[in-house]
Amino acid sequence: MTDRNPAAVTLVSHWVDGASWEGASERTGEVFDPALGVATKCVRFASSADVDRVVEVAGSAFTGWSATSLSGRARVLFRFRHLLSERTEELAEIITSEHGKVLSDARGEVARGLEVVDFACGLPHLLKGSFSEGVSSKLDVYSLRQPLGVCAVVSPFNFPAMVPCWFFPLAIASGNTVIVKPSEKDPSASNWLGALWAEAGLPAGVFNVIHGDQEAVGRLLDHPRVKAVSFVGSTPVARHVYERAAAAGKRVQALGGAKNHMVVLPDADLDLAADAAVNAGFGSAGERCMAISVVVAVGDVGDALVAKIVDRMGTLRVGDGRRDVDMGPLVTAAHRDRVAGYVGDGEAEGASLIVDGRHVTVDGDPGGFWLGPTLFDHVTTSMRLYTDEIFGPVLCVVRAPSYDEALALVNRNPYGNGTAIFTNDGGAARRFLSEIEVGMVGVNVPIPVPVASYSFGGWKQSLFGDTHAYGPDGLHFFTRTKVVTSRWLDPSHGGLNLGFPQHE
Ligand code: NAD
Repeated sequence: MTDRNPAAVTLVSHWVDGASWEGASERTGEVFDPALGVATKCVRFASSADVDRVVEVAGSAFTGWSATSLSGRARVLFRFRHLLSERTEELAEIITSEHGKVLSDARGEVARGLEVVDFACGLPHLLKGSFSEGVSSKLDVYSLRQPLGVCAVVSPFNFPAMVPCWFFPLAIASGNTVIVKPSEKDPSASNWLGALWAEAGLPAGVFNVIHGDQEAVGRLLDHPRVKAVSFVGSTPVARHVYERAAAAGKRVQALGGAKNHMVVLPDADLDLAADAAVNAGFGSAGERCMAISVVVAVGDVGDALVAKIVDRMGTLRVGDGRRDVDMGPLVTAAHRDRVAGYVGDGEAEGASLIVDGRHVTVDGDPGGFWLGPTLFDHVTTSMRLYTDEIFGPVLCVVRAPSYDEALALVNRNPYGNGTAIFTNDGGAARRFLSEIEVGMVGVNVPIPVPVASYSFGGWKQSLFGDTHAYGPDGLHFFTRTKVVTSRWLDPSHGGLNLGFPQHE
């Protein structure tokens, strides 16, 4: 973080009230191109007073937007959907230049975000209430779904477009106004989305972006006019956000970290399992909350499975995501060093280092934040390699003698975001689905991210709150219901009765 804005690099400002906005704070942070290893931009860090201003803007916009007809809102959503689909490439290039993931993966991220926009386009249907005629004499009861007000979205670095898209389409469709606080590591995607909303005809002030660090987040959590907070990030911050926002009386959903296990039973198709382990372990350099970081090899399957994984790892090309490669750099030098530190720790703790990514050959600038795909075998559950969320291209194989041991191991883990079982035995898979304590489960599917018409969320320390993201839970989160009991009397009514109302 710096106190001055270096003139040599682009300065990323906030997006407020339908336009770029500088705010009053002069604090900024550097934004890197991870494949080059150089700071290419600076991003503004908002002060509490800057946050107060954006909340005021979003609060004022709420009056008009919440009163906009459902068909009027749907028209804006459809235009936004069309523009996002047409201009995916532009957004993907921004993502790759700040996050480092390969372009094809950045396009995939946008496509999965777009699915939630598709879902939100059905808002006139989604926002229907219910009506019961004549529940008692001349008495009708109906329910309404109404928006909350100003909603804050605080997002992590690893999906700068998709994760905000988990929340803001449904929030806006439901009539709320939104303030996104993206990760300071890759802030530009959110501003680009803000400009796209303006082009789609969304009234100014309905979608806003404020950049910054914990000062900005803290003010959003405390501000009385912010009614709901959707957070995604690491578990310690998710817990803090949940507790602080809930204490301030807000609706809050806080999605945290993960350690996702892939259980491979002895009868599994080992080629399928090895492909899946490599794809889900090293895609996006392991910087996905649904990445597989632990392969649990059950029975005697370990040696053959590890051999197949190693074969595939030998074919992976690491380099600048704008080139024809499979895996890009890590997001920052500090994060790369942290993840590389785990490789040294794993060796010292006695795990078998099968593939060492520290000296990888890359198709990219030598200054990039590189770490190649790394594989450890014979990892035990007491090693830091296993206990910590590494969030990088380090895949660990743990051996388990039986299904029961594998199940117990996964269930003992404090995280519960995603898991997968690989088997050809339907009965075993069915038992696993029932017994596993994890929020999202794949059967021969390594990254079981639910489609937009279901909801995304983990269990245990992977999610604080009781509402998952998007789908039916998202709709529930961004609306509050009101139940109306109404009687239109006919001329024969009348009389006093002080008793508690009962139905006839
Ligand atoms: P992070 O927790 O460091 O940051 C997330 C957001 O919180 C950022 O906007 C950041 O500016 C803000 N923040 C950081 N420290 C804060 C503090 N002390 N107080 C208030 N705000 C603070 O996470 P990250 O490194 O950006 O992202 C990676 C993490 O996110 C991993 O743990 C990953 O598993 C998790 N993640 C989880 C999911 C999920 O669905 N469960 C999805 C994506 C990422």
